[in-house]
Amino acid sequence: MAESKNRLVHLQTMMQAANVDLVAVGPTANMRYLLGYVPHPDERLCLLLVSLEKAGLIVPTLNAGDVAAHTDLPLEQWPDAEGPFQALRRAVSGLSVKRLAIDGTMRADFLLPLLAATNQPETITVEGLLAPLRARKSAEEIEALALAAAQAGRAMQAAMDACRPGVTEAEVAWIVEETFRKDGAEAVTFSLVASGPNGAFPHHHSGPRRLQVGDAVIIDIGATLNGYQSDMTRMVFIGEPPADFLKAYEAVLAANERGRTAVRPGVMAQEVDRATRSTLEAAGYGDYFIHRTGHGLGLEIHEAPYIMAGNEQTLEEGMVFSVEPGVYLPGQFGIRIEDIVAVTGTGVRTLTGFDRQLVIKK
Ligand code: ZN
Ligand code: ZN
Repeated sequence: MAESKNRLVHLQTMMQAANVDLVAVGPTANMRYLLGYVPHPDERLCLLLVSLEKAGLIVPTLNAGDVAAHTDLPLEQWPDAEGPFQALRRAVSGLSVKRLAIDGTMRADFLLPLLAATNQPETITVEGLLAPLRARKSAEEIEALALAAAQAGRAMQAAMDACRPGVTEAEVAWIVEETFRKDGAEAVTFSLVASGPNGAFPHHHSGPRRLQVGDAVIIDIGATLNGYQSDMTRMVFIGEPPADFLKAYEAVLAANERGRTAVRPGVMAQEVDRATRSTLEAAGYGDYFIHRTGHGLGLEIHEAPYIMAGNEQTLEEGMVFSVEPGVYLPGQFGIRIEDIVAVTGTGVRTLTGFDRQLVIKK
């Protein structure tokens, strides 16, 4: 709870600077960040309200006991039969709200009563205030992300072991999910297995296609462990890989290494993107690298900082993000090698230690 108190105080400092007099967040990663806990999310209105002087929660009565066990903030409860509006009115009474900041993902059926209770203030999203705080991870958060990354390595090994001719993408994806859950993951965020020509679609959904000799297989997996996300991509080849594939694989591997090596405090996010992209351009694959180099991750799978051209944000100690260059040749194959890195005081620490060499299955 001490950590939560610090985060609320930091948020109030940001609110003051941004002229925001009320922050309202639902049961999202933002609430998890601010409280260290998030109640069961459903259609019942549940909000954490933070003004410059105080903070409190509006919760449905059926969750009040659970919430009270996790936070000492005051609660306004509402029973199912009464609805949330009176509790909402009580919670904002005495506040004059001119500028309100809310989750970018807040449900409309939370937002509309909130706007009515606060007399329709000017409303912005809270991400601009919270992203800079959430982007700089504490040592405890980085250890949580390292544990999640190690778990992803175990699920990756299980996936690689399962890859052989005749097995479907969906079957390999299921083994990933089963391995993560048996290993204690709270939820599997995604288990993407893209074989042969399917690999040319960066966000392919694992399907009924059977792996066959000559396939490159992209395995991109992630899960939640103790609230923190993992995300890692490795490659398997079924049979003997041809020379053109190996050439592209070496280029992507070099781009991944150059990208990670470029990471240190004081460098701009876009310089890391430049490092991976220029490596692929020099190898003749620039036109086939069709996405940004990476994204931050923490309580959410995609969050600040985004590693892409045009982002002049300076990397700081504690930031954690992916470096995931890829090459996608339509109708042929895709290649992506993705690692998670943390910016240290002087350089970089790669959290995903899993071997990056191509795994050849015969
Ligand atoms: Zn990723
Ligand atoms: Zn990924």
